[in-house]
Amino acid sequence: MAILNIVKEGDPVLRKICRPVTEITPRTLQLLDDMKETLHKADGCGLAAPQVGVLRRIALVEVEKGKLYELINPEIIAREGTQNEMEGCLSIPGEWGITERPEKVTVRAMNRNGEMYEVSGEGLMARALCHELDHLDGVLYKDKAIHMLTKEEIDEQLED
Ligand code: ZN
Repeated sequence: MAILNIVKEGDPVLRKICRPVTEITPRTLQLLDDMKETLHKADGCGLAAPQVGVLRRIALVEVEKGKLYELINPEIIAREGTQNEMEGCLSIPGEWGITERPEKVTVRAMNRNGEMYEVSGEGLMARALCHELDHLDGVLYKDKAIHMLTKEEIDEQLED
């Protein structure tokens, strides 16, 4: 396994539409393993393939430690309610914003064995799923943010 470089905002790779995975190859499995290691090292709750420079529809979400979801060709199939909560991104370090997201979503995706499965999440899990899926379409949470935190607001958050 290897730690991959996480690309930062401004890199055009973050603005591309990713292609679906048509076949799970040893390279796909290697990428999933490397992304997992990279996500753990960065201590984030999600990582999408374009964030490591790969334009494929692959994302990881791990809101609860040890409960990692590998999402290949994921699609949101149901959404419910709304929430306005704070979000950040490993590609936009040091910034946070408030984004409106569904309170609950259900995503259908393929796992590394090529099997389809569904995962539902509320609250932070729903935000993480939406955030990572957006990356696959070149969308960053900042594009949708209702409010980006000011430096003073960030300092206040860090004090709590
Ligand atoms: Zn992100």
